[in-house]
Amino acid sequence: MWITSHVVFLKTKSYSIRMIGSIKELTNMMDSPSKEDIELITRAFNFAQKAHSNQLRYSGEPYFIHSYETGKNLALLGMGATVITAGLLHDVIEDADIDEEEIRKEFGDEILFLINGVTKLGKIRFHGLKRHAESLRKLFIASSQDIRVIIIKLADRIHNMETLKHVPEEKQLRIATETLEIFAPLAYRLGMGILNRKLEDLSFPFVYPKEHEKVLAIVKEKNNEDIELLKKVNQTIIKKLAKEGITNIETSYRKKGAYSLYKKLERKDWDVNKIYDIFALRIIVPTVNDCYKALGIIHSFRRPMPGRIKDYIAFSKPNGYQSIHTTIFTRFGNVVEVQLRTAEMHGNAEYGIASHLSYKTKKTKNGFIPTNNIWIKKLLPNIQKLNNNGKNQNLADVPVWIKKLAENPNDVQSQEFVEELKKDFFEHRIFIFTPNGDVIDLPVDSSPIDFAYAVHSDIGNHMSGAKVHGKLVSLDTKLKNGDIVDIITKKEITPTAKWLNIAKTADAKRHIKSSLKKQFEEDRNR
Ligand code: MN
Repeated sequence: MWITSHVVFLKTKSYSIRMIGSIKELTNMMDSPSKEDIELITRAFNFAQKAHSNQLRYSGEPYFIHSYETGKNLALLGMGATVITAGLLHDVIEDADIDEEEIRKEFGDEILFLINGVTKLGKIRFHGLKRHAESLRKLFIASSQDIRVIIIKLADRIHNMETLKHVPEEKQLRIATETLEIFAPLAYRLGMGILNRKLEDLSFPFVYPKEHEKVLAIVKEKNNEDIELLKKVNQTIIKKLAKEGITNIETSYRKKGAYSLYKKLERKDWDVNKIYDIFALRIIVPTVNDCYKALGIIHSFRRPMPGRIKDYIAFSKPNGYQSIHTTIFTRFGNVVEVQLRTAEMHGNAEYGIASHLSYKTKKTKNGFIPTNNIWIKKLLPNIQKLNNNGKNQNLADVPVWIKKLAENPNDVQSQEFVEELKKDFFEHRIFIFTPNGDVIDLPVDSSPIDFAYAVHSDIGNHMSGAKVHGKLVSLDTKLKNGDIVDIITKKEITPTAKWLNIAKTADAKRHIKSSLKKQFEEDRNR
């Protein structure tokens, strides 16, 4: 055990011990940590504090505050001791010159792997080209190899954004743009609504300062009257639902994030009257059935606005988001958006993939439920069919672990599940680079033909050969993660029927078929 903390405090007298945080504060956020968990976190806390003891942040604060806040963000997300430990240590190799061997000796291979992953991601930089943003997001996923690495990186970025105002001005825009274009969409893609909103709203004022001011002014104007209105509507709805036997409910108001509101205002010509969900009423009911029942009850006494009823339970958003949304006219003549969901859907909407890696359970009025499951079910919609009517289309496409999940939804916290999840997320897709460094993601076993069509249909239609890492390969070569592929084209080349057997993606097949048909018709008319 080291005696280190006073070194930090002597150098920066203005920061008290409380500001640095404490091991106790961290472990208190965890759900019944074991003795080993606490011991591990204690060692990491002391190790990181010592490693960074000579360093300060731009704010003048001890560097360790950043490590601590990253660990804390991870604890808040419900991560276990391993991930929190990696979070505390995430900068010790890059910024404190600790060598890998020392980490391996002190904390083992898994934690070293996570730290190295985060360090590697830190080297990928976004330089403002919007058309590269999607490639970069994919590259992030491909390079991280483990979802936990991305989650640590997101927790790190939250604190960096919270302290961005201390960073030299010339760096602020790049970092904030990167956050807005890469990290926030990644959090969204992973279903982590809470991180997505936070990252967007922290970057917004740096990337679009004028627009940010404008949005704030609009929200300020709306604030008070709308909250009062929502409270009244909430009371009425609670009474009506109770009368119909739905009593176990929790309600809350949610205010739309400033950046999300900005994007919507852009789409609606800045006419705030066309936006109905600046404030929304969130109603959490016990079961899926209750969601639909509540919708019926609400519509029977308040007229819904046509075209505004959205059933994201039956048709969830691509990132797994589930809820029923409706916009109703109140008796005061205003409109209010109401969102209906179960506690489980709520947990998934806020924490997404993190809830699958988390060992936390959520206490509701109906007892403890694991805050997981739905996200993954929605990622592979087949599971729903499997559950609801037992008839299953495409059952062959459903990975084994998903089938198991359907049989026993509470099983998801096992190590096995986490392993399978990682595999599924990373192994069903491969990431192939163009010679310019753009990233194309394709299904496993894709060929250069699939790649060529994914780049552009003209390139596919006139492809005469392909090089992988500079070497000519046959068109039926199975591409591997990280391959750099160069497609050679010739104007006179056109697809042949053989290509159809090689192509794997629907997109390539469609283009080949239409080209073959065209050739056939041209031949006939000759
Ligand atoms: Mn960091």
